[in-house]
Amino acid sequence: MPKQTIRDLDLSGKRVLVRVDFNVPQTKDGAVSDDRRIRAALPTLNFALEKGASLVLVSHLGRPTGNPEEDAPFKLDRVAARLQELIGRPVKKVNDTVGPEAQAAAAALKPGDILVVENVRFNKGEKKGDPAFAKQLAGLADAYVNDAFGTCHRDEASMVAVPEAFPAENRAIGFLVEKELQILDTLLGKPKPPMVAVMGGAKVSDKILVIENLLKRVDKLLIGGAMTYTFLKAQGHSIGKSRSEADKLDEANKLLELAGSKLVLPVDHLMATSLDVGAETKVVEGSDLPDGWLGLDIGPKTAAAYGEIIKNAGTVVWNGPMGKFEDEPYRNGTLKVAEAMASSPAVTVVGGGETAEAVETFGFADKVSHVSTGGGAFLECLEGKSFNSLKVIPDR
Ligand code: ADP
Ligand code: MG
Repeated sequence: MPKQTIRDLDLSGKRVLVRVDFNVPQTKDGAVSDDRRIRAALPTLNFALEKGASLVLVSHLGRPTGNPEEDAPFKLDRVAARLQELIGRPVKKVNDTVGPEAQAAAAALKPGDILVVENVRFNKGEKKGDPAFAKQLAGLADAYVNDAFGTCHRDEASMVAVPEAFPAENRAIGFLVEKELQILDTLLGKPKPPMVAVMGGAKVSDKILVIENLLKRVDKLLIGGAMTYTFLKAQGHSIGKSRSEADKLDEANKLLELAGSKLVLPVDHLMATSLDVGAETKVVEGSDLPDGWLGLDIGPKTAAAYGEIIKNAGTVVWNGPMGKFEDEPYRNGTLKVAEAMASSPAVTVVGGGETAEAVETFGFADKVSHVSTGGGAFLECLEGKSFNSLKVIPDR
């Protein structure tokens, strides 16, 4: 059922608390190194401002420990400054989340004003979902909008207890969450056939539930990345010193059985003698890797074959890099898959922290149908989970 959206709210002259996901990648000293998540919230923020609302923006950033010195890089000042540049209006930032400074600033808001309160995870009540804290936060505004897709799988106060503190008619999702849910609905509902999933990344254990759920829906499941070697080992092949999960062989075998001919494993591998940059590399064909070598990328034949399947698909969902793409020698497989996604006429969806990063770095983010802003939230949706943060938003 579609959820009530920001379009359904009475916004004129109202103070609107928007739970955004400004949990952006940062450099070591705390600067914003990638502002995609801030840009992704702009449609919702601009819409509310145009309708005559003022904004109270709430987000977490990083993993604060409670030690003010360690937590300094997680203050939201630089995020607020970047938002001000991007939105082209003044953005006021206060140093508390629900305290006197935040209350006074929220009370003073006029239509068109934007207030960013301090990192919501600086408050112990956030992680605990504390209703008393939630009530204080909700007290800053008249209505609540969830536009924090990347946090929707969390039951933290600002995601669940805060919307619950507003009357149901004053709760809604924003445009980013709406778009992410529509895409996931297409993937899990009636995808245009043939439907192809491309799965890679570090560990098969992170993705077992996703693979299980997708197998019911896809025509082909293409495997790459380190998880390849857990599958190959489970089949009895030699994998050299490749990264694999020895305790997941039974589960890998179950997935292989469940998948039958849908599951496609690489037919060649780019190997190296060690993880050191500059180590000797070579391509091996087949499913057995010699002793002393580790697989760090899919080989060129596999990359070409996967590219063809992607270009002939109706719908493609991709999570997990095909190799250790962060290092130039092992980038090709991930790059070829990204290129195929970008040039395919299919509905192409990319999700996952590193996978999204790869597609952005290669410059293909605007050439695929959608790059999800959610890592964990995207994967949990693909697992078929539903979120409390969305249950509390009424259906239309
Ligand atoms: P995502 O965040 O997109 O869901 P993961 O977190 O599952 O992806 O995995 C990403 C990581 O997997 C990357 O940092 C990449 O270097 C690593 N990786 C992929 N293939 C291999 C491989 N063959 N050997 C070692 N690491 C790999
Ligand atoms: Mg990751």
